[in-house]
Amino acid sequence: MHILSTIFLKDLFKKQKETSLFGKWITFEHIKGLFTKHQVVFKIQELGLSEKGIPINTLKIGSGKKRILVWSQMHGNESTATRALFDLFNCFSKATNEALETILKECTLVFIPMLNPDGAQAYTRVNGNNIDLNRDAVSRIAKESKLLRNVLEEFDPQFCFNLHDQRTIFGVEGTKNPATISFLAPSEEETRALTNGRKQTMNVIIAMNRLLQKMIPNFVARYTDEFYPTATGDNFQKLGYNTILIESGHYPDDYDREITREYTFYAIFQGIYHIATSSTFKEYEEYGEIPNNDKIFYDVIHRYSDSKKDKAFQYKDEIINKKFVSKLVKVEEITFKSKIAHHEIVFESKKH
Ligand SMILES: [Zn+2]
Repeated sequence: MHILSTIFLKDLFKKQKETSLFGKWITFEHIKGLFTKHQVVFKIQELGLSEKGIPINTLKIGSGKKRILVWSQMHGNESTATRALFDLFNCFSKATNEALETILKECTLVFIPMLNPDGAQAYTRVNGNNIDLNRDAVSRIAKESKLLRNVLEEFDPQFCFNLHDQRTIFGVEGTKNPATISFLAPSEEETRALTNGRKQTMNVIIAMNRLLQKMIPNFVARYTDEFYPTATGDNFQKLGYNTILIESGHYPDDYDREITREYTFYAIFQGIYHIATSSTFKEYEEYGEIPNNDKIFYDVIHRYSDSKKDKAFQYKDEIINKKFVSKLVKVEEITFKSKIAHHEIVFESKKH
C-alpha cells in the first residue's frame, strides 16, 4: 500500500487550494465561473438540468483502465467535499508531479461536483422537489437521481466516491475527539455480508485511514453499516460498483469546515492514488479496527452544579434574506450527563 507523504500533500494543498470558495454555503453561482479554467485539461459536459433548471456538470480526465466516478453535494447543504474537489481540479489543471501522472495514466475519472444545485441554492438536504436523493436510488423520482444513474450505467466505474457532510454530533468512539472524517463501505443487504466488492471498498478506505492517522490521529471514524434499502451507496455497492462513502465532519472550532475541507482533499487524493497504484484490493481486515462513529457531542453545553439543570444547544444553519445565518437552538432533552460539547460553559461548578 503506497501512502503518500504528508509533506508532499500539504504543500500541494497550500498551492492549489481554490481560494474563491469558502464556507458552508456553496451554490452553482460560486462554481460556474470555475469550469472555464478547467476546460483546458478536463472534458466538461453538461449532464443535464436540476429540477429547477440549474446545470449539473461532469468533468472527465485521465486515460487509464480503472474507472472512478466521484460526486459531491447530493445533499445540497453538504459542500465540504465540493470545495475539496475544486482544490483537486486545480492540481490536475495547474500542477505536475509523479502522483498526478500515475493517476492519469492508470485511471479515467468522472467528477460531478454538485449533484443537487437546487438544494445547494436553498441550503437544504433535499432537492428542488423535496426529495432526499440519498433515499431515491430505487424509485429514482428526482431528475438528479436519474442523471446519476445514467452516468453510472454508461461509465461503468469500478469505484465510486459518494461525498457527504456529517453533523457535529459525531465523535470517535473511545475518545473525546469529533469525527472529522468518517468512512463507510456500505452493506449490500440486511445481513451486512462481507462480499468481495465490500472488501475492495474497505481496502481503499484502509489506505485513506492510514494517511489520515498520520495527520489527525484519532479523529477518524467509521459510519454505521446498517443497511439502508433506498440509499445510493448501498444500492450501487449491491449492483457491483464499489462505493466509498466519505462523511466530512467537525474539527475543533472549524464551523466553516475549512480545516475539514483540507482533510477531505487528502482522503480523496489518497483514495484515488491507492486505486491507481493497487491491483488486488484484497486486504480488508484493518477496516474493522477503525473506531465507530459515536453520537456524543452537542455544540454547546451549559453546566450547573445540579446536572439536571444542564442545557445543551446545537447550531442550526439557515438562509435568511439571502444571508447564511447560524444560530444556537436549545436541545429538548432531559439529561446531558453522558454527552460532551465542543464548547462547555460551567455556570456553577459541581459540588464535591
Ligand atoms: Zn449527506
